[in-house]
Amino acid sequence: MAIITMEKLENADKDADSLDDFVSGNGKKKVKTRRGIEYLTAPGVEQTLLDNGLKRGFANKAALEKYKPSIEGSLAQDMETKKVWLWDGAKWNDTGASDKDLAIAHSDAEIAKTNETITNISATTTEKINEIQAVDFYSQEKSKETKTFRQTDSEGNILIAFDDDGFLQQNFKSDFHSEEKLSSFLIVDHHLNIIFANEEDEQFLKDFFRDQNQPSFSVVDSQFNLLIGENKKSDDDDQQDIDFSKLQNNALNPEPLNTTKDLYSDFGVIKRMQDYTDDLYNLPIRTLIGNTASLYTLYDALVNTYASMSSQEIGSDALGNIIKAYTYKPIPFEMGMDSELPFDLKEMIKPKHIVITTGVHGNEKDAMLQMYIFLKEILERKEDIQEASLLSNARITVVPVINPTGTNAHTRFNHNQVNLNRNGEYKWGAFPGEQGSGPLSEKEAQIASALPVTFPDATCFVDFHNFWPNITGNGVGWLGASRQDTVKVIRNVAIEINSDMRRYKLFSDQKLMRVGLNYTGTLSRDWIELYNKRGYLLETPVETAGFNRYKLRQYGLDVVRKTLAAVYKYELTF
Ligand SMILES: [Zn+2]
Repeated sequence: MAIITMEKLENADKDADSLDDFVSGNGKKKVKTRRGIEYLTAPGVEQTLLDNGLKRGFANKAALEKYKPSIEGSLAQDMETKKVWLWDGAKWNDTGASDKDLAIAHSDAEIAKTNETITNISATTTEKINEIQAVDFYSQEKSKETKTFRQTDSEGNILIAFDDDGFLQQNFKSDFHSEEKLSSFLIVDHHLNIIFANEEDEQFLKDFFRDQNQPSFSVVDSQFNLLIGENKKSDDDDQQDIDFSKLQNNALNPEPLNTTKDLYSDFGVIKRMQDYTDDLYNLPIRTLIGNTASLYTLYDALVNTYASMSSQEIGSDALGNIIKAYTYKPIPFEMGMDSELPFDLKEMIKPKHIVITTGVHGNEKDAMLQMYIFLKEILERKEDIQEASLLSNARITVVPVINPTGTNAHTRFNHNQVNLNRNGEYKWGAFPGEQGSGPLSEKEAQIASALPVTFPDATCFVDFHNFWPNITGNGVGWLGASRQDTVKVIRNVAIEINSDMRRYKLFSDQKLMRVGLNYTGTLSRDWIELYNKRGYLLETPVETAGFNRYKLRQYGLDVVRKTLAAVYKYELTF
């Protein structure tokens, strides 16, 4: 065991004094050890740390509270909240801001500054705008009015604006651009009729159509809210509001605007594609027309329903099958016949008579059906179909089945294997094998060729056939004529059809309704050459797999409608 000497006790006493100085001394005094070496006291160490900006971190507030520093001014940070606490010698005090709080406060201050800048810009802009809006170019005075609507000319002069009561007013009496007492603007329609303009000394925009100060038109937005105009039909009709939801794109299609039907432009007129659900427009062709009798049944129903329809037998084929004709007679409008006139007034005014044949080829039932549908449209859908309305003024005879046996057997030729449309009299003989034993050897061809004799007042004859749309080549139909004047008629209608047909998206751009000369030996050539009538041949596409049946039938109907309308209009020139 070690021996304790006096020297050791004295040394221990000196060491104890040094330790006491280290623990209890102030921050500035240093401790000098028995061996003469100087050290910082404990508070001195702490002060040195504080002077160098250091602070002690604690996991949370509770851990921080347990720590009691030896000197005032110690900093500690609660790492949970990032708050910094200051020791005042007795307790920890909140310094009021964490680094995060300071960052947020800084951001808020910057945002506030930005907002203030924006507010200032807005106020300046509003002031400028008010200054502009308040200028009355007529009086050259400042106005307190704020206009919500203005129309200005190219130099920014106010022409019209809403007044304080919300009414549209002209806000000037002279044109400050031109410095003349004249309007600087007009609103005109497509025909350059003036619809309205400002008028000197008038408080309202003038409606030149009605020559009144009340507009005859209204302006509505896409939701049919009235923007300009009056929500009543006329001054005398105060109680009846206009139902703007009934506004139409086309008066011929009086249906609500909210439709799924395709709209299309037909030479500048917006039309709506028809979407008929009737069986006639939709069922397969052979379901609708099985044979000659089924087609006659359809036509007979029209005769039984409408006083304007009549039927007659015009002959029969070699087997005794009846060939019938159906005639539509328009309402007469002639009156006041004056025999003193140097021309035949009655003859001029009487309806033009057009004779149309289908079923020359028994397998072309789409032509038979489309002609039947169009005649039915003339009787029933005049208000819906412009061409039907037009043709309702004509006398129309349809011979629906020229070839009864071919129609029953669904064959091109008749029971004698003769192509009736090569059995005609004029220049017969160019088609051996199908033309028959001689010109008009077939009774059906005799009846068809002689239709100008059967209907002597008719001036125009149309033979209506079908065409196979998927045939190789560029055609989807054919219009034939052999006189210079009638070729012009079908040329023009072919161009119209070829332009209009694109909306159906049925055929490529290379597929066109073509125009050509009727073959010799055809029935239409007989009408033209033997009887000096205007004769035409018309073809529409036949129902074909791969084509939308409804669209193809509508296309065929459009061809019939347009062609017969053009043909009829030409008849009206005589
Ligand atoms: Zn044919």
